[in-house]
This record gives sequence, C-alpha cells and structure tokens, in this order.
Amino acid sequence: MSSESPPRVVLKVSGESLQGSRESGIDSDALNDMARQIAACREHGVEIGVVVGGGNLFRGRIAAKLGMSEATAHYAGMLATVINGLALQDAIEAAGCEVRTMSALHVRQVSEIFIRRRAIRHLEKGRIVLCVGGTGNPYVTTDTAAALRGIELDADQLLMGKHGTDGVYTADPATHSDARRYARLNYRDALQQNLGVLMDASALTLCEEHSLPIVVFNIEAPDAIVKTVIDGPDLELAGTRVDDGDTRLAD
Ligand code: UDP
Repeated sequence: MSSESPPRVVLKVSGESLQGSRESGIDSDALNDMARQIAACREHGVEIGVVVGGGNLFRGRIAAKLGMSEATAHYAGMLATVINGLALQDAIEAAGCEVRTMSALHVRQVSEIFIRRRAIRHLEKGRIVLCVGGTGNPYVTTDTAAALRGIELDADQLLMGKHGTDGVYTADPATHSDARRYARLNYRDALQQNLGVLMDASALTLCEEHSLPIVVFNIEAPDAIVKTVIDGPDLELAGTRVDDGDTRLAD
C-alpha cells in the first residue's frame, strides 16, 4: 500500500460483544454502540473490515459435545455469524454509513459472497465490509477468518476485541496476582507460550508468516474501538501489540 493510502484495519468482534449483559443472543444497546463506534472510525477516514463471530448464538464445539455431528455443528456456527452480521449491517446503516455484508458461505438472499477483489473495492469506496460465514470451513473459528481477511485485504493491523481482559498477560490475572501485561509481544514468544487468550495458534501463525500486526484490546471499555482505531492504543495503559518486535512488559 502506498503511504498516501488511507489506513485500513480489520476488526474482529466476537459474538459475545453483541450480547451485552445478556446470557446469549443480541442486545440492542451493545449492537447500536458497536455500530456507532464502527461508523465513527469510518467517518474518520479509516477503511474498516469487520470479521463477525457467532459464539453468542452457537458454538460448533459445544453442539458437537451434545451429540450433533461435528462438521454440521461448525456449519451452524458459521450461520450464526451471518445472523450477527445482518444485525450489525442494519445498525451500521442506521448510524449513517454504507456497509456490505460478504459471506464465506452462500446465503445469496441476504449477502454477497466474499470475493477478495470486490471486498477491496468496497473498502476503497468507503464502505464498511462485514465478513461473515467465518472461513467457510468447519473445525476452525472466526480467529482464523480474521487472520485470513486481515492478510488478504492488506490491512495495516488486525484488531482483536476481547472480553474481560485489556491485553495479553504473563499469566491469568484472575488467579495470579503477580501477572504482568505485555505492552508488546513477539509472535514467536506468543506461540511458544501457547497464549490461547490471544487467538488460535493457527491464526497466529498466519499473522506471523505475513507480518500482520495484531492489537489486543478490551472491547468492553467505553469507546474502545474508536480509541484503538483512531488514536492507537496507549500500550502503557492498555492493550498488547503482537508483531515481530521485541517482547516488552507494560510499565
Ligand atoms: N466456525 C467454523 N469455521 C469458521 C468460523 C467459525 O466452523 O471458519 C464455527 C465454529 O463452530 C465456531 C462458530 O462458528 O464455534 C462461531 O464462531 P466463533 O466461535 O469463532 O465466534 P466468536 O467466539 O468469535 O463469537
């Protein structure tokens, strides 16, 4: 990308971020707040692709444990991401931005199919692109979809919105009072320490191979998406950046 190109990010939002304080499903306040923040980023000139999760509605692994055939359960999980995407599409439109939903699965009546060059065109025209349907393949999660879309859409960074944590820690802060947050984390260190809180190892490997920086941030914090996308995270205060630089703990 030339230095004059507008910044481009891919944002992963888990289904959980759409459920607000509910136990599952979609909460309209959480949905509208997310749409408002995404629209604000776009209005600020950032090209933004969003990879939508589905865990608030359906998780393949859990359904498989309950007896559903595993591959079918994963396809159902992918369809859950389509439902979330449609809800987010309407909310973003209501917030005043153009948006296109692009699916890795064929759901022709409600979504375009994901075609990389078309998605890039939408981004260049200022439309928000919602990537739904995961990768279109069972046995992986939307983390892998986020890594793939981030790489193929030439994003400058992949933003991983998290719940219950503001970054990656040396140990689980809930059980280790001496846990320290990483401000910066090298891909290799993240892989060696098997930091599942960050993302699946396969997705992380893809990011490393293609030098796609990842920013982990707490999506529950007020205006977190806007602050992370527009200002960039203040890594001494919150967040973890994962890239090929040296690992460093926050002050
Ligand atoms: N899924 C899948 N392939 C993909 C993406 C998702 O099979 O490429 C299924 C998987 O079963 C997963 C479900 O869709 O449990 C919902 O996605 P995910 O768990 O990643 O959603 P999130 O945790 O981000 O809300």
